[in-house]
Amino acid sequence: MSESQGSNDPRIVLLGPPGAGKGTQSANIEERFGVPHVTTGDALRANRDVETEHGTPREYMEEGELVPDPVVNEIVAEALSNTQGFVLDGYPRNVDQAEYLAEMTAVDVVPFLQVGEEELVRRLTGRRVCPDCGANYHVEFDAPDEEGVCDECGAELTQREDDSEDVVRERIRVYEENTEPVVTHYRESGELIEVDGEQSPEEVWEKLREAIDAAI
Ligand code: AMP
Repeated sequence: MSESQGSNDPRIVLLGPPGAGKGTQSANIEERFGVPHVTTGDALRANRDVETEHGTPREYMEEGELVPDPVVNEIVAEALSNTQGFVLDGYPRNVDQAEYLAEMTAVDVVPFLQVGEEELVRRLTGRRVCPDCGANYHVEFDAPDEEGVCDECGAELTQREDDSEDVVRERIRVYEENTEPVVTHYRESGELIEVDGEQSPEEVWEKLREAIDAAI
């Protein structure tokens, strides 16, 4: 039995390849369970030009490579220092990060969103984002009313620089090499719950919510 059984503040690590829907589902988790959404990708994008002793995050992100562990670990340590529960999105991305996390905190459940490679490429290369309010769209599956314009705030939509097809393929390769061992790690520890991420966002959320409710 987990030490936190019955806790109202679940500690959730959401795993899945880039484009699996972790951001969308983390927002649902944040709202339903009242825990902060901690996303290393957003934190790094907000600080992409900050000089560190390893260079700037941008240099790695533009190529689809992982930002060095010390930079990312510090972001997560800071974010977790003043909260009990959380949903972690985009971290840990390699086994060293998983070990660092285990030193900081226990986790209650690790849902894993499974999506095949071609579907990931379709989702990511078609994604468009609003630079002003952060709304997300897809040119085919979730197009704005007026092409290239945000429904929410009217700003011109952009494509993330790492959503071009060649960088997307590299991000998936980096995921397979570094993050699949993390999936195996949590599968072996019994914390992993597999969810079919190819269903609609609503169907994924239903399964995910049930899985989290059953685990906490
Ligand atoms: P994401 O928004 O999660 O797709 O992350 C975008 C990019 O940020 C990744 O391709 C990496 O370059 C970097 N990044 C995000 N999270 C991590 C992490 N935990 N470790 C290393 N790099 C990361």
